[in-house]
Amino acid sequence: MMKDNLFQKIIDKQVPAAIVYEDDRCLAFRDINPQAPVHVLIIPRKVIPTHDQIGEEDSDLLGHLHLTAVRLARQFGLKDGYRLVVNCGEQAGQTVPHLHMHLLGGRGMNWPPG
Ligand code: 5GP
Repeated sequence: MMKDNLFQKIIDKQVPAAIVYEDDRCLAFRDINPQAPVHVLIIPRKVIPTHDQIGEEDSDLLGHLHLTAVRLARQFGLKDGYRLVVNCGEQAGQTVPHLHMHLLGGRGMNWPPG
């Protein structure tokens, strides 16, 4: 079932996306409904539905996602800062059941989020 999720279709190139980076473990593409001048989604190729389902075996992969975020933040010139967001589960606003990290930048942001 999870193999049918939207982001899996982007990984499989069945659904088009503005891909800004990809390697053997992850993919990064522009969010279709950007909430900041830079809004990129970084996703693992591995199917992990939510952050709550990561395991010890995913430690390297998660580090890789973070290092990819750093590389992309530099690539997009986010020298004044950026925000990384992982929504986990319905109450947090997760809408696609495939682990993803939002990289947001290019404008000032408030805290706490809504
Ligand atoms: P979530 O709310 O699950 O944390 O984030 C899902 C994100 O996926 C949202 O920001 C939404 O705008 C984005 N999104 C939904 N459908 C598509 C799509 O077809 N293509 C792209 N590039 N992003 C999408």
